[in-house]
Amino acid sequence: MYRIDHWIDGHTVASTSGRNGNIFDPATGQVQGTVAFADISEVDKAVANAKAALPAWRATNLSRRAEIMFNMRELVSANRKEIAALLTKEHGKVTADALGELARGLENIEYACGIPNLLKGGYSEQASAGVDVYNIRQPLGVVAGITPFNFPAMVPMWMFANAVACGNTFILKPSEKDPSAAMLIAELLKQAGLPDGVFNVVHGDKVAVDRLLDHPDIAAVSFVGSTPIARYIYETGTKNGKRVQALGGAKNHMLVLPDADLDMAADALVSAAYGSAGERCMAISVVLAVDTIADDLVSKVQSRIPNVVVGNGNDPSSEMGPLITGEHRDKVASYVAGAAGEGAQVVVDGREGAPTEGFFLKPSLIDHAKPGMKCYDDEIFGPVLIVVRVKSYEEGLQLINDNQFGNGTAIFTRDGGVARQFQFDVNVGMVGINVPIPVPVSYYSFGGWKASLFGDLHMYGPDGIQFYTRSKVVTSRWPDPRTSKVDLGFPQNR
Ligand code: NAD
Repeated sequence: MYRIDHWIDGHTVASTSGRNGNIFDPATGQVQGTVAFADISEVDKAVANAKAALPAWRATNLSRRAEIMFNMRELVSANRKEIAALLTKEHGKVTADALGELARGLENIEYACGIPNLLKGGYSEQASAGVDVYNIRQPLGVVAGITPFNFPAMVPMWMFANAVACGNTFILKPSEKDPSAAMLIAELLKQAGLPDGVFNVVHGDKVAVDRLLDHPDIAAVSFVGSTPIARYIYETGTKNGKRVQALGGAKNHMLVLPDADLDMAADALVSAAYGSAGERCMAISVVLAVDTIADDLVSKVQSRIPNVVVGNGNDPSSEMGPLITGEHRDKVASYVAGAAGEGAQVVVDGREGAPTEGFFLKPSLIDHAKPGMKCYDDEIFGPVLIVVRVKSYEEGLQLINDNQFGNGTAIFTRDGGVARQFQFDVNVGMVGINVPIPVPVSYYSFGGWKASLFGDLHMYGPDGIQFYTRSKVVTSRWPDPRTSKVDLGFPQNR
């Protein structure tokens, strides 16, 4: 048994709230540790420290900020096995997947290494006689990040790398289900040279989140999690005058056209639906199979499923680990249990043969699903792939555009013209063309449309820099006594 406390002002601070949560080992189902749940005074302490650290940090020169990010890049890279081990221990994902998460997270630290270039403004010389105009981007102040259980290292990296590099100080409220990675990240940031108080971690539940949402010294909130909470964070944070970006849930559809390479499509579907036990916001959870190839595609996916090795994430032969909690495993299983009653056909039932110790399910495949069925309408967030048969490209496109979510989507085809039309027509934020999980590289930005994102700016990349800064425009003239006079007219250039 171990204990996770807060990280405030550069060191671990034991919680005095008296409120705690259990940390499970999803592979065994046993409680392995406890995590502190902050009370209001603990959040306030973290915010006060972050506020105190702000003046010196925002005055720190850009080269030094870049140097710290370069140091952090090296430290995360050198410690990737240790961080990955924490992810497997608390989240359950297999080691290869945990290392993949870190590689994608690291990209965001690498992007932030370019901060001197990223913060360049524009300059217009001689906008009027002797007048120059330029804009600068300045940090917002103390900003908060609230993150989900499924990427305990990568999603915090989406946020803090740019936030801190832009000159803000940062409070992270990680998921209470797998809180350890955040603590190792905090220690590495300190080793990298980040001054105490610039990055803080408060653990907890709704109490901590609500305090961050109404604390007057929090300028902005980045959130990633489920849609109902994302909506709540956006509405509450903006009501309290904060800048908010809140990324929500997903139901990502992959449209497979008759001309696609069906073996490639089946490989991609198995990887994208069952990788990380389907607990990815960019997982493919619905395949739209055009009628003429649907039987073939379903049987190709079905034939691959028995080869997916389900087991403890620490076992190098495992390809898919457990789900995060027993409660979540049961919820996912309930969709499989209910599918036949709704008129769908359970082709592979992942409840059968799953390891009984721990929170395991094996992959499930459900065919002949339709809108209106719970297994189609809800985000399941588990290893369940739903097949909807469609007559045409147009019907598939319509289903995607009618869906409440718009996080990611993919089309599999050999026809470049149709793929381009899909890219043009589809109402989804991230699109893959023969790429099943199109998570943008760090120099683009990540974000869905519709109920998958509340706010204006996507996460990380150029949008991240914009989110964590505000623009100031300076109009300047250096005194020339020869042209000085009183003029009550409105300033004009001509
Ligand atoms: P969640 O919404 O339950 O929790 C996310 C965060 O919100 C956690 O830190 C949690 O402690 C906090 N929280 C939970 N309930 C709260 C409440 N009532 N009030 C205030 N705060 C609360 O999400 P999760 O189960 O940790 O993560 C899975 C969800 O996240 C899925 O829906 C998935 O699609 C989504 N997700 C989305 C993206 C994306 O980029 N769009 C990325 C990863 C995960």
